[in-house]
Amino acid sequence: MEREFNTKATSVLPSTDVAVVGGGPAGLIAAAEAARRGLKVVLFEEDNIIGRPERCAGLYSIRGLEKIGVALSRSYVQNLIWGGVINSPSGEVFEISSPTPVAVVAEREAFDRYLAEKALASRADILVGRRVVSCHIDEGGRACELVFDDGSKLSSRGLIIAEGSSASLARRIFKGYDAPYWLPIIQLIVRNHGLDRRKAHVWFKSYLRDFFGYLVPINEELGKLGVAARRDPLAKAYRLMREEMPSSRIIGYSAHSIYRGPPLEIGLDGNVVLVGDVAGQVKATTGGGIITGGICAKAAASHIYSYLEEGRRGVYRRMVRGLYRELRATYSIARAIDSMSDKTLDGLIKAASESGLSKTLSIRGDMDFQVTGLARSLASPVGLRFLCGLLRTLL
Ligand SMILES: Cc1cc2nc3c(=O)[nH]c(=O)nc-3n(C[C@H](O)[C@H](O)[C@H](O)COP(=O)(O)OP(=O)(O)OC[C@H]3O[C@@H](n4cnc5c(N)ncnc54)[C@H](O)[C@@H]3O)c2cc1C
Repeated sequence: MEREFNTKATSVLPSTDVAVVGGGPAGLIAAAEAARRGLKVVLFEEDNIIGRPERCAGLYSIRGLEKIGVALSRSYVQNLIWGGVINSPSGEVFEISSPTPVAVVAEREAFDRYLAEKALASRADILVGRRVVSCHIDEGGRACELVFDDGSKLSSRGLIIAEGSSASLARRIFKGYDAPYWLPIIQLIVRNHGLDRRKAHVWFKSYLRDFFGYLVPINEELGKLGVAARRDPLAKAYRLMREEMPSSRIIGYSAHSIYRGPPLEIGLDGNVVLVGDVAGQVKATTGGGIITGGICAKAAASHIYSYLEEGRRGVYRRMVRGLYRELRATYSIARAIDSMSDKTLDGLIKAASESGLSKTLSIRGDMDFQVTGLARSLASPVGLRFLCGLLRTLL
């Protein structure tokens, strides 16, 4: 018989091996992996419907989806993306085209539902409409007691916290938890964008100093236009739309925040771990965290299994070491881009365009491991040409 989620539970289980807090992608992937390894898992989501409210551009690399074991499915794929168009403040354009699709545009609610079905198929339980308000952990790191908003309680041997930007449990449990790296973002659904549906579009503008603006096409007509900014993101999103897509009109709107910091070194040991956005497992250049958070969620579940069943320590930290190095380097690049003047950005994009870096990046680049992909691309004759061109335009 098909098992159902998105129904509010009337009671909670008295105990479980692993409790997961948060039914976003990181929590769902971790729950599926822990259950697949034979642990008894219950996931709690405070909202009544998995995947809602939808606040995501849904741009995920195909290679990354493979890495987290998620097959492409018509149930959530809205569009295929073959490259990107990057526009500089003064109108220089750098276009990357690949001979095959490199990314999908996903409908986020359907994507999360797809992940929830995978978790159920692994025999995890999902209870929606349940907010965890606090948690007591025993000194020896062997048990936790979760407390819910209706006062009910659950004891569990392990706890995976995947609560996203709210971070309320993380702050309570981990002394010194601090992540002041969130940036408000507005995402508009627009009709009649008039841009190439096979490309993701990015604009650097003098009025978008905190982040770039983007348009991720859903199809020829519809697209997701996003602007993140410390101040007035909505006004800036309107302005970008008027300038770059003058015939378009708005048919939907959402507001949230994206993480633009380094990965956090906290919650990587013991029987209580952090995964996803709450752990800063996000590419700071783009705020994208589905693939990187998904890789870490699988590692966290492996760690919890090893810790609870085999008494092994340090598995999570070891498994994410390489990715964390990459995310820290990505954060440094994001900071460097944020501090660039319009003139430098113009020079960078012009040099990239004139050097032929596009072809090299389409072969050697990687949307999720951006620094590694960029380093591979620069270590080539084209890379050298790009660096020389950059020096010429800047000096
Ligand atoms: C506008 C926008 C566009 C984006 N575009 C992209 C993109 O194109 N590609 C990409 O890779 N990433 C993108 N991201 C980032 C991506 O959405 C996040 O990295 C991802 O959602 C993080 O997943 P998560 O599971 O860690 O957290 P979330 O998705 O935030 O899920 C956390 C869940 O925990 C629940 N919760 C919180 N506290 C509790 C509690 N106490 N009890 C029970 N439940 C609780 C919440 O209700 C929520 O469902 C975008 C983000 C935004 C805002």
